[in-house]
Amino acid sequence: LDPETFAGESRAVINFLADYYRDVDTYPVQPQDLPGCLRALLPDAPPENGEPIDVILEEVRTHIVPALTHWQSPKFFGYFPMNASTAGFAGEMLSAGLNIVPFMRVASPAATELESAVVDWMGKLMGLPDRFLFSGGGGGGVLHGSTCEAVVCTLAAARDRALSRLGHEGILRLVVYASDQSHCTFQKGARIVGITRSNFRVIPTSASSGYGLTSDSVRDAVEADVASGLVPLYLCATVGTTGLGAVDPVRDLGELARRHSMWLHVDAAYAGSALICPEFQHHIDGAELADSVSMNPHKWFLTNMDCCCLWVASPAALTSALSTNPEYLSNVTDGGAGAGVVDYKDWQIALSRPFRAMKLWVVLRRYGGAGMRAYVRRHVEMAKWFEQELKADGRFEVVAPTRFSLVTFRLRPGHEGDGDAVDGLNRRLLVAMNASGRAFMTHFVVDGKFVIRMAVGGAMTEMRHVQDTWELVREKAEEVGALP
Ligand code: PLP
Repeated sequence: LDPETFAGESRAVINFLADYYRDVDTYPVQPQDLPGCLRALLPDAPPENGEPIDVILEEVRTHIVPALTHWQSPKFFGYFPMNASTAGFAGEMLSAGLNIVPFMRVASPAATELESAVVDWMGKLMGLPDRFLFSGGGGGGVLHGSTCEAVVCTLAAARDRALSRLGHEGILRLVVYASDQSHCTFQKGARIVGITRSNFRVIPTSASSGYGLTSDSVRDAVEADVASGLVPLYLCATVGTTGLGAVDPVRDLGELARRHSMWLHVDAAYAGSALICPEFQHHIDGAELADSVSMNPHKWFLTNMDCCCLWVASPAALTSALSTNPEYLSNVTDGGAGAGVVDYKDWQIALSRPFRAMKLWVVLRRYGGAGMRAYVRRHVEMAKWFEQELKADGRFEVVAPTRFSLVTFRLRPGHEGDGDAVDGLNRRLLVAMNASGRAFMTHFVVDGKFVIRMAVGGAMTEMRHVQDTWELVREKAEEVGALP
C-alpha cells in the first residue's frame, strides 16, 4: 500500500461516486437487462497482470452500473431504504482505511470503547430503558452486520438460559413464537439454534389490529403448548413489520413473556430509526420488559451498509452462549482482560469484525440528534402526503395504517370482478411502474391480497420525487385498465 497511489486512486473512486450520485436519478431505477447480461461481458479468468484503476472504473461505468438496481436513487421505494450518506461514507472510509479488527478489547481498545459508547448513544436517542445501556444498569449493546445475525445470537442466549434449567434434552420442548408478519429471520434463526421445526409458532394477525399481534392470541398459543408439556422459549415483537409496517404491543407481550419466563426480543430493524422522535416512542412502551432490542442504522439512519444495533439487558446471557477462549486469543498483556471488559467476539457469531462503530459515530457526530429527527420526519411527511393522495383519489385502498414512512396500497375491487382479477390488475400496475424506470416499488401479500409497498426513506428523496411517483401511479393505473 503506497500512500501516494492510495491517495490518487481513492480520489478517482470518490470522483466516480460523486458523479454517480449526481446522475443517479437519471438512471432507470431497475435495469431492464436480461439475466446473464454482465456475465457475457466478463472474461473467464482474472487478468494475469494488474490493470490501472481508470480502466477498471470505466468498466464499472459501462458494464456494471447499467445492470444495477439503484438503491440510492431518490426514486427507489422498494423493500426498505438502505441509506448512504456523506457521513456514512466518511465513516466507512475511515473504518476501511484503518482496517483494524476489534474482536477483543485488547485487539483495539479505542474501537471497543467507541462501540460501547455509540450503542449507548443510540439507545438513549431511541428512548430505550436504562437496563439496555452500559451506562445505565448492567445491560449493553453491540454492532452486528445484520438483524439476522443479531437474532440468532439472542435465540442462542435464550436457548442456553432455558436449557440450564431443563437440561439438554429439553431442547425438543422449546417453542418460539412470532406473528405471521414477523421477519423470516426468526424462523431461520430458530432452526439454526436447534429448535424443532414444528415448535415454531406463527400467530395470525388481522386487519382489525392493524396486523399487529394481540396478546390474547399469543396467550392462547402459549397456554396450549404448556398444557401439552412444551416450554415457551422466545417471543418476537416487531415495531414496524417488513410487509406492512405493523406494530406489536410490546408491553402486553412483555407481561406475557414474563409470566412464562420467555425471552422477549423487540425487532425494530426499520422503524427503530423513527423511535428517535418522541412522537414515535410510545411504540416501544414496555421495552423494559424485553430481554433484547435491535434496529438497523443501515436502513433509515444514514449509515452505509452494514450496521445493526443489538442491545441486551443481560450481556452475561449472551456471552455465556457465545464465548470461546482459545489459547491463541488469550490475553497476555495487562489491562485487557477481566471482569467488566467487553470482548465483542463473545457477543456475535464471527470472530473478525469491521470497525462499524466508527461509521455510526461519524453519522451521529455529523448530523446530531436534531438533524436525524428532522431527516426522519421529512420522510414521514412525504409518506403521509402520498397516503392522502391515494385516499383522495378514491380508486385505491390503503391496506395498513401508515405509521412511519411505508405506504401500502392497492387498486380497490371495482368493476373488475373477483379477487384474482383485482390482484392481476395490481400486479400489472406494479410491473408497469417498475418497467418505466421512473420509480421502483415492491409488493406484499396479506389476507390473500396483492399489495404494493411504497417505502419512502432514501437519503436523496425529496417531495418532488414522491409527487412524480404519484403521477406515475395514476398514469399506469389508467394504462393497466383501472377505471377512472
Ligand atoms: N426485521 C425486519 C422488521 C426487517 O424489515 C428486516 C429487513 O428488512 C430484517 C429484520 C432483516 O434485517 P437484516 O437484513 O439486517 O438481517
